[in-house]
Amino acid sequence: MKEQTIQLNLSPERKPKPQSEELGFGKIFTDHMFIMDYTEGQGWHDPRIVPYQPISLDPACMIFHYGQTVFEGLKAYLTEDNRVLLFRPQKNFERLNRSNERLCIPPVDEEFALEALKQLISVEKDWIPNAEGTSLYIRPFIISTEPFLGVAPSSRYKFMIILSPVGAYYKEGIHPVKILVESEFVRAVAGGTGEAKTAGNYASSLKAQEIADGKGYTQVLWLDGLEKKYIEEVGSMNVFFKINGEIVTPALNGSILEGVTRNSVIELLKSWDLPVTERRLAMEEIREAYKSGQLEEAFGTGTAAVISPIGELLWNDEKMIINEGTTGPIAKKLYSTITGIQNGKEQDPFNWTVE
Ligand code: PMP
Repeated sequence: MKEQTIQLNLSPERKPKPQSEELGFGKIFTDHMFIMDYTEGQGWHDPRIVPYQPISLDPACMIFHYGQTVFEGLKAYLTEDNRVLLFRPQKNFERLNRSNERLCIPPVDEEFALEALKQLISVEKDWIPNAEGTSLYIRPFIISTEPFLGVAPSSRYKFMIILSPVGAYYKEGIHPVKILVESEFVRAVAGGTGEAKTAGNYASSLKAQEIADGKGYTQVLWLDGLEKKYIEEVGSMNVFFKINGEIVTPALNGSILEGVTRNSVIELLKSWDLPVTERRLAMEEIREAYKSGQLEEAFGTGTAAVISPIGELLWNDEKMIINEGTTGPIAKKLYSTITGIQNGKEQDPFNWTVE
């Protein structure tokens, strides 16, 4: 795979670039995309960068019926001196292959995928917005394309990468959100697909999210699928709590997605000599810590927001206001350190960024 050269078919037309106020999230796409095909017996073939355009698929393609698909999400940042930085992209391609393994999709060559991404971004460099907090969101994904209605792994796939310039997540500075603890619906179960980044997990999360939204809450906090006692994730982020000095995040258990931001937060906290623990964490423990005044901070972690402080939790009828609804010092320090590394303004002692 590594020897394959990527065909370049550049678009004769270029779309106008958006103003930074128009960006939002995931609505605008660049002029080109990367695509390669998989055919059983032949492997991955025909890698190419082509004009961004609709793709034509047979209505019987397996992706439409059984959802055999995986995706990733990461960002490219423009530094003040006009360099382009990716944040730990190898981790995303490693996770893509772990998702592939779970969904019976053939693995991609991770180094080649990163090379393809670099080439695509070098074609699209002018699309990376430079206003504070903005970035180029990168969406690699694989769909199953064999036209066949039997339930089985597909014999054909497409791997694609599309790019979308996105606005600043926090326009008025990092601020806490209200979270509803979900006691009816679950996101994932032990033995299911929770630790894979696959479409079905997100489709099944919509209902609870819609209900939470209607009640004025930003996201749901997911509990385990068996007993609905233990904390898993918050919306599409991993979650951390500071309880009496200990910073705790749920241990990876097969139903939690292993976030790149989660891993970075754990490494940073360790490097600051702060006590960070990955363990099982019951919602009841959070309630008790709250009652005794030991629930000091809570925050979500993910590529989109980086750090999302939690100002309020609603569990059944019980409302818990955390840190008086303001952003705690750990969340603040993590946010400024990670975003500083991402946009090249801070030292990068772990060599997380890739130019
Ligand atoms: N959990 C879920 C379910 C997610 O979709 C994401 C976003 N990829 C995360 C956690 C956070 O992962 P990351 O830090 O790699 O963005």
